[in-house]
Amino acid sequence: MTNYTPHELYINGRWVPASTGETFEVFNPADGELVACVADASSQDADTAVDAAFNALSIWSKLTAKQRGFFLKSAGDALISRTDELARLLTMENGKPLAEARGEIAYAAEFLFWFAEEGKRVYGEIIPSSVPNKWRMVQYQPIGVAAAITPWNFPIAMITRKIAPALAAGCTVVLKPAEQTPLSAFALCRIFHELNIPDGVLNCIPSSKPANIAEALLGNPLVRKITFTGSTEVGKQLFARCADQVKRISLELGGNAPFIVFPDADLEQAVDGVISSKFRCSGQTCICANRLLLHFDIAEEFIVRLTEKVKKLRIGNGLEAGVHIGPLIDRYGCTKVDMLVQDAVSHGARCVCGGKPVQNSDTLKGYFYNPTIIVDVTPDMAIWRHEIFGPVLPVVTFETEEQAVHYANDTIAGLAGYVYTQNLCRIYRMTEALQYGIIGINDPVPSTPECPFGGIKQSGIGREGGRHGIKEYLDAKYISIGI
Ligand code: NAP
Repeated sequence: MTNYTPHELYINGRWVPASTGETFEVFNPADGELVACVADASSQDADTAVDAAFNALSIWSKLTAKQRGFFLKSAGDALISRTDELARLLTMENGKPLAEARGEIAYAAEFLFWFAEEGKRVYGEIIPSSVPNKWRMVQYQPIGVAAAITPWNFPIAMITRKIAPALAAGCTVVLKPAEQTPLSAFALCRIFHELNIPDGVLNCIPSSKPANIAEALLGNPLVRKITFTGSTEVGKQLFARCADQVKRISLELGGNAPFIVFPDADLEQAVDGVISSKFRCSGQTCICANRLLLHFDIAEEFIVRLTEKVKKLRIGNGLEAGVHIGPLIDRYGCTKVDMLVQDAVSHGARCVCGGKPVQNSDTLKGYFYNPTIIVDVTPDMAIWRHEIFGPVLPVVTFETEEQAVHYANDTIAGLAGYVYTQNLCRIYRMTEALQYGIIGINDPVPSTPECPFGGIKQSGIGREGGRHGIKEYLDAKYISIGI
């Protein structure tokens, strides 16, 4: 247990118990041990937090972008300086290996740094008038109170990717982090608290009843923006519910990323690329390779090389040195992954390695799944259509570029897609043809704070990161002046 285990909600600059007095428990997915008890926010707490955020708008939105940027930059510095303790905390609640947790802290801080500066560049426009004696201009203003709902797979970076642009734009925030990973969210709030950010600018209300909290946020007219990262299923519900009050909404939803390898690729680079894409966070990332598409000519050799490396990945508690594969987040996650694998096998697919959960032992007591490569997969299998969210890689072969494109786009998702090739013309053709919001060409880790992250089709609406990210929290106001 660390100092960063507050048991209380963060509302209006104070640490308070839930209005109901209820708490819920947070467990370490690597060993099932209790990590913390956390105040369990109610709808009433959500309303109180929204009121606080609304009241804080009059102070926060009036600060200059430079003043707001100071808080963001300082929070980023504090994150970096506390990387060791925060990474341990993150690993304890999420399970990812410590090295990945450290990487996530750095990544999370980068959003704070980027938007600390980007807030200063929210320029207006002067538009040449089509009639004499009029001045036309556009001013950008903060939307107001933004409610952020975030997932457990990146317990801190998915938060800074939202709150950094929101705060930079002059919005105030009510944050509902995932119930499996509220401790990193609290740690971040504590940093802002220690920086004396004005009361109510940032509020944090984890809850074991997410639908109730969402309902309170959606039904409250003071909330003008919903920003959600999570499953497509929940995202669609929120989207529909936003219609009532015509709230602005950003959705970062699930993916089903194809990872396509052509015969002209650097195969060693592609093998390493697919490993880093697929097995990071034990395959529980929205942009991770969900389907490996191999050209027929290189498929056999590629699978041999890949299997050799995958078999060397070390499974274990993320706090131990040298571990590559941590646990899945919970029993449900592990069962879902295994059901997809067993379904594929029952329909004719074959596991080259892995293919089942890790048997519990004295040292491994959590929800671990063996890294799995599964061949002879066909597009009619459930594993092809669903986001696996585990360390399982289904493989399909193709003969032509057209066939690869057809397979790749054969999904309702459109978040990220990957192509490995050394052929420049093919790079342009594939970039044009793939229906994805993010495309990594010979690059398995395209996410970065300065570029727009987000999906097309059913993977979402809006973008996070880059100059696009701050627009999600701004309203354009057009002003016409007779002169
Ligand atoms: P999830 O079940 O949709 O949960 C995400 C958040 O929504 C959590 O805070 C959760 O609270 C809350 N929630 C759950 N049910 C809700 C409801 N009925 N109404 C309102 N909020 C509700 O998703 P997850 O399993 O945590 O996260 C994995 C998903 O997130 C995957 O599909 C992944 O692809 C996606 N994701 C997308 C991106 C992206 O940028 N596109 C990034 C990361 C993850 P509780 O924790 O209390 O359940």
